[in-house]
Amino acid sequence: MSLSLKDIKLTGELIRGLKITLRYMFKPSVTIQYPTQRREASENYRGLIRWDKDKCVACVLCEYFCPAKAIDITTGEDEAGNKKVLNYQVDASHCMYCGYCVEICPVKAIKHSEHFELSVYELEDTIYAQEKMAGDPPITKYR
Ligand code: SF4
Ligand code: SF4
Repeated sequence: MSLSLKDIKLTGELIRGLKITLRYMFKPSVTIQYPTQRREASENYRGLIRWDKDKCVACVLCEYFCPAKAIDITTGEDEAGNKKVLNYQVDASHCMYCGYCVEICPVKAIKHSEHFELSVYELEDTIYAQEKMAGDPPITKYR
């Protein structure tokens, strides 16, 4: 049986592929078993916005500067006549995680969390109102 030039080329490619497979077979695995295993997010990872109502001074700068108009703040006054936030919410489906709001906030009341699992069944669930934004990020644990 004589081999054609095409057969020789294909055999060469096959051997090359097998060599790569063998080389990686004995290296440590770079994949992880998500979602049961999770990587540490990097320090400057921009996940879902967290808002600290105790720090916020209701200046509304974050809403004003948000390029995606993802932040919606309702303000009012307390008994002493001081401005306060009545409702603060972020629409995660509009947010592009640019970090402008975090940068602009004069009292560091907003930060990015490590939370990235934002898939929901209902569109309205992409709106994170203040109760959902305070405290620890709602990280979903599977199994
Ligand atoms: S990260 Fe950017 S897009 Fe998202 S809420 Fe802040 S300013 Fe708006
Ligand atoms: S910029 Fe900061 S202090 Fe001002 S309304 Fe936004 S979160 Fe509150």
